[in-house]
Amino acid sequence: MTVQIDNPLLSEVMRCIHRMRPKLHITSPFYDRIEKNGNFVSIWFLTSGCQWNIRSGCTMCNYGQGSVCNEEEIVNAVHKGLSAINVKVKRLLVSPSGSMLDPQEVPPNARRRIYSLIRDFPSLEFAFETRPETITNEVVKEVIESIPGKRLSIQMGLESSNAWIQRFCINKGSHPNQFTNAAQILTAYGVKVYANISIGTAFLNPQEAINDAVRSVQWAISNGVDVCMLFPLHVKSYTLLFWLYQNGFYHPPSLWSLVEVLRLLDPKLLSGTKIAWYRNYYENMIPKLEINEDSDVIASPTTCPKCQERVLELLDEYCYRGDLRVIDDLDTMQCECKDVWKQKIGEVSMYSLPERVLRIYKELASLFLPDDWWSHYGSVLEEELFNTYSAE
Ligand code: SF4
Ligand SMILES: [Zn+2]
Repeated sequence: MTVQIDNPLLSEVMRCIHRMRPKLHITSPFYDRIEKNGNFVSIWFLTSGCQWNIRSGCTMCNYGQGSVCNEEEIVNAVHKGLSAINVKVKRLLVSPSGSMLDPQEVPPNARRRIYSLIRDFPSLEFAFETRPETITNEVVKEVIESIPGKRLSIQMGLESSNAWIQRFCINKGSHPNQFTNAAQILTAYGVKVYANISIGTAFLNPQEAINDAVRSVQWAISNGVDVCMLFPLHVKSYTLLFWLYQNGFYHPPSLWSLVEVLRLLDPKLLSGTKIAWYRNYYENMIPKLEINEDSDVIASPTTCPKCQERVLELLDEYCYRGDLRVIDDLDTMQCECKDVWKQKIGEVSMYSLPERVLRIYKELASLFLPDDWWSHYGSVLEEELFNTYSAE
């Protein structure tokens, strides 16, 4: 059976949005982030950018498109990033602004030289991010043979396990089946599989976003994932999320929604679930991250000024220690903003999700696409939108 993954409208709109995007101007080809005193260290290095983002891209992502980087520049950036680490490291994540295993982003020779640097670096575990469709037996074998003696994990963007949401809300450019195939290959080689899962995907109302994240964790764990990383979404410029936010169709998820997802998950699944980006990490980079305002975070998940500090402290505690009692503490915490959030998630939308998506698609088409676009392609898209919809 062939599965449909393309979304001509979102792809074209994303290209229009990205056409206006300035090249990423940053002062360093690498950035380090040291968390939990070295328990987790990540190095991000500059490349020409995610190939899917260059062709069209996911609706929430502005991973930034840098200038083309050659093998020498990439390897030097990683070398400098490793040299700037001054703590004992448990888990080391070294990733480009996209996929480590995409040869257009990281040339194969650069990748092999990065593996040599990692092999000689004293960390227990090595991880990187890559799109599921870049995983093959050959590349997995290569990393295993290049870095003996370290635990390996590969982190991939699932965002949602719902193929309809991937296609019509995220424009993921892949299908959950591709994720499953990649997870099977990795598991067969003993590589740990991490799945990035979003909370607050475009077009979903707060309750749908919570349900989607919970279902995605359940799906991921039963499809070979070892660890789910929950990401409440931030609004970044030059994304569809930003346009939706500017036009009153989107608001970043409340941190109470993140708490709710944790609360709803079975304790057995929680042991394989971690949280990330509930804070804006851009503020803690080494060297200090100075990006053009255009590439900055516009709006972030939060609660309210009265309780925010306490909520973040407790989330840190959960993140660092994985103590499940913290979820109870967060669940029983009282604040006026929590009452407002509860009311919001209790509201029932007057229109179904496909109806709401269709309405916004029509606005997007009239604003971004040629006048006759909808008359040519609109009815097919509308049919698919309704006929393939499934909330599961
Ligand atoms: S979320 Fe990942 S796959 Fe999607 S555009 Fe961004 S970097 Fe590329
Ligand atoms: Zn509050």
